[in-house]
Amino acid sequence: MKVAVYPGTFDPVTYGHLDLLKRSVKLFDKIIVGVAESGNKNCLFPLHERVEMVKLAIKEENMESENIEVKGFSNLLIDFVKENDSKIILRGLRALSDFEFEFQNAITNRKLDEKIESVFIMTSENYFYLTSSMVKEIASFKGDISLFVPKLVIKKIEGKFK
Ligand code: ADP
Repeated sequence: MKVAVYPGTFDPVTYGHLDLLKRSVKLFDKIIVGVAESGNKNCLFPLHERVEMVKLAIKEENMESENIEVKGFSNLLIDFVKENDSKIILRGLRALSDFEFEFQNAITNRKLDEKIESVFIMTSENYFYLTSSMVKEIASFKGDISLFVPKLVIKKIEGKFK
């Protein structure tokens, strides 16, 4: 069984993340969305809320029947991948700016364990500009984020900026 781990902070989950998930369920038998505790980012949402939002988003997009599991993790990514009997790290590539960072991560992870391979999926042209940071910034000014995140997630974000 080909299990891929899709790691990220998902602070919050966007249609860009979901686009990537939709593409990858066709390629792997199971996807584990690994929601990272924080990395070196300062997250707006605590881990349990980010996990909950990814689950809500999967439901709203009618992807519940797909073999997707959502889990939080706070250890080293490659250890989390191995714990889940996977050898595949799945990441998205947006505009050019993602490349350098992703290249560095992939090579570092390969140095740590050469049996684990990073796989990249190109985002849809509809979402290649979309970042969680942008969504947070718009929401902080009470702007309309309905084009970027599922409805159930909008409520959670609006709650943060009340
Ligand atoms: P991280 O902090 O690890 O970068 P993110 O939640 O920002 O976590 O991103 C997780 C993964 O999802 C990354 O591989 C990122 O490239 C991908 N991703 C984020 N936004 C989009 C998008 N709009 N389209 C496609 N992939 C995306």
